[in-house]
Amino acid sequence: KEKVSLNFIERIIEDDLANGRVPDNTIVTRFPPEPNGYLHIGHIKSICINFGLAQKYGGRCHLRLDDTNPAKEDMEYIDSIKEDIHWLGFDWGQYEYYASDYYQQLYEIALRLIKEGKAYVDSLTAEELKEYRGTLTEPGKNSPDRDRSIEENLRLFEEMRLGKHSEGKYILRAKIDMASPNINMRDPALYRIKYATHPRTGDKWCIYPMYDFTHPISDAIEGITHSLCTLEFEDHRPAYDWATEIDGIDHAPHQYEFARLNINYLLMSKRRLLNLVNLKIVTGWDDPRMPTVSGIRRRGYSPESMKDFVSRVGVAKVESVVDYSLMEFCVREDLNKRAERLMVVLDPLKIIIDNYSEGTIEYFEGENNPEQENSGTHKIPFGRELYIEREDFMEVPAKGYHRLYPGNEIRLKYAYYITANSVVKDAEGNITEVHCTYDKESRGGTTPDLRKVKGTSHWVSATEGVTIEARLYDKLFNTEYPGGETGNYLDDLNPDSLKVITNAIAEPEILKAKVGDYLQFIRNGYFCVDSKDSTSEHPVFNRTVTLKDSWAK
Ligand code: ATP
Ligand code: MG
Ligand code: MG
Repeated sequence: KEKVSLNFIERIIEDDLANGRVPDNTIVTRFPPEPNGYLHIGHIKSICINFGLAQKYGGRCHLRLDDTNPAKEDMEYIDSIKEDIHWLGFDWGQYEYYASDYYQQLYEIALRLIKEGKAYVDSLTAEELKEYRGTLTEPGKNSPDRDRSIEENLRLFEEMRLGKHSEGKYILRAKIDMASPNINMRDPALYRIKYATHPRTGDKWCIYPMYDFTHPISDAIEGITHSLCTLEFEDHRPAYDWATEIDGIDHAPHQYEFARLNINYLLMSKRRLLNLVNLKIVTGWDDPRMPTVSGIRRRGYSPESMKDFVSRVGVAKVESVVDYSLMEFCVREDLNKRAERLMVVLDPLKIIIDNYSEGTIEYFEGENNPEQENSGTHKIPFGRELYIEREDFMEVPAKGYHRLYPGNEIRLKYAYYITANSVVKDAEGNITEVHCTYDKESRGGTTPDLRKVKGTSHWVSATEGVTIEARLYDKLFNTEYPGGETGNYLDDLNPDSLKVITNAIAEPEILKAKVGDYLQFIRNGYFCVDSKDSTSEHPVFNRTVTLKDSWAK
């Protein structure tokens, strides 16, 4: 194996394996989402890293729901997290864990710390705690409660547990070092009082363990070998190590930090995404404009394209912002191989072929996917009345325009050559019909005289085609760093992020499309069936991405 192609985490792992530092030689990672929202694209990176490493080294990856903040957590989020990980093609098997499963153990460890004089109950207010904590340049001060007797600490902690005190009245703190250069080591909080019904433990507890206490001990209990997190936890590492070194904890996992995934134009924070949902700026967490896993799934992104994207971004130790267009590039690359090609007219203009016999329907074979061998063909009905895109006809052609205009001949894809002759207009002067003639000899795309035509248009039979709704999406925010200027991302919302077309006309083959199928509407982009709103009476399609990059303008 070539060492140079390994990322820094793989190098650490291979080194640990080679030097016998991994119990049973089994790499154990975990993906630890807090169930306080739906997963977003950033989480995909963490999922791919954690599950990917476990796969690569024949170890395992735990799913750990980090559920220590009952006020914000919900079963709905837990279910969505599982669905999203499965959609990406990963499975935790039997290794499903909840931080809340360790409440009893964590509580006993806390009691032991108190008995050993290593933790104390503090009555400072939130404001005082902040003041006593000091700053980056100034050491903190000891709380007057730091020297409380062990008996008193035990009694107060028991009262906290029994619900005898209000929220914020007391916290349990580790006794470490108020002068530590690392603020996270200045007697960090271990427990707080919180009166909230927990999705799993109900009202059993009203004291809840803090992240810096829960996370390392959960990792240790589960035998995690490499605990991977994002860079903002780097200065929590001493607290992590402190917790895993508590007497009686006999497994020592190690924490490593990598750069989080940032993408321009996108917000990736569950809190902010929840805000968009609550303010009804989007229709829900799975709105196709949302950068959530459920949003991009509904939008028609494939899991393979996202895995490819994340692997192109790589695993680094320096924060950066990835260009949105790289993600779309990966989506196009992948869908090009998968998507079935269909003809759909988004902005219909009626064409009447005067010399084609009325009532006759003939069929052409449409290629399902020219990028895929043996993908087969499907039948496309053709008749006297058709629709083409309105932009494919100009009564007075602009310079260089090669599509249909009076006197000009074009090719109808898969079918015949047609020439436009005259137009019909309504009272306002809008063109309602274009009358054409076709050349019978051009069936299949060429003529005996091999004459050239420059333009090719897609089309749909006016009598056999089906009306569909097409939803065209644009960015939800129209600045690269939403809120970057004003501090409020709501100031940068794109008012035109959704365009709904209710009268698009599609070839009848479209009725076979199911949720989860990948489609390409020729010339108009990649599309998918909307998983929520589409019905057989009212088919709805989401545009996943255009065929070409129009984003970077
Ligand atoms: P958010 O701020 O959106 O709530 P979070 O980090 O609080 O994100 P968690 O549920 O704690 O969300 O995340 C689970 C795991 O996913 C953590 O290990 C976290 O570091 C990782 N993660 C979250 N966001 C990103 C991101 N943008 N890029 C890479 N990994 C991420
Ligand atoms: Mg969070
Ligand atoms: Mg978190």
